[in-house]
Amino acid sequence: MLKVEKFVVNPLQENTYVISDETGECIFVDPGFYFRQEHREIKEYVTDNQLKPVMIANTHCHFDHIMGVEFIREEYEIPFCAHPDDAFWVEKAVDQGEMFGFEMKPVGAPNSFFHENETLEFGNTSFRIIHVPGHSPGHVVFYAEKENVLIGGDVLFYGSIGRTDLPGGDHQTLISNIKNKLFSLPGKTKVFCGHGPETTLEFEKTSNPFLT
Ligand SMILES: [Zn+2]
Repeated sequence: MLKVEKFVVNPLQENTYVISDETGECIFVDPGFYFRQEHREIKEYVTDNQLKPVMIANTHCHFDHIMGVEFIREEYEIPFCAHPDDAFWVEKAVDQGEMFGFEMKPVGAPNSFFHENETLEFGNTSFRIIHVPGHSPGHVVFYAEKENVLIGGDVLFYGSIGRTDLPGGDHQTLISNIKNKLFSLPGKTKVFCGHGPETTLEFEKTSNPFLT
């Protein structure tokens, strides 16, 4: 049984997900923990639920999605994984943060890399990795077919799509990837977004103004 717990964190209201299953193993998706209170809350959640963190899995590496990487990597001694085409964003994180008015510590390079069609596995759970560039060049989403769950990062939002005006972004690429790679998955698939509420592929396919 997959459990997806959402933490809305940092001043950009980014969704960090802790995903666990019946084995107690868990992964952190896009840890954006920034404030001390957020650090306390996540440690409590892990302890209270007796979870065993095994990996940091990033959909992409914009600064608001990696603000909490070093805290989690050090606290639980687990690897940070992302797509190689977003590694440059990790190096730019401090500068990008500054541009948005946030002070943050540097984030070290990923420990290992995801590639399209590989699987991300922990406990009894398996996610397929789908490369969906457009919002950022190394953006990936995690798809659990059995559970009808898609961890979508900043590709697709409830009634909206990710911005494409940052370096490496491209609007047409984003639109065609959503239509070809995501809308070919079952409509009932529940999408957990990088910001805002959850949605489903069916709902976005029929009502999203950017995609209809
Ligand atoms: Zn982003």
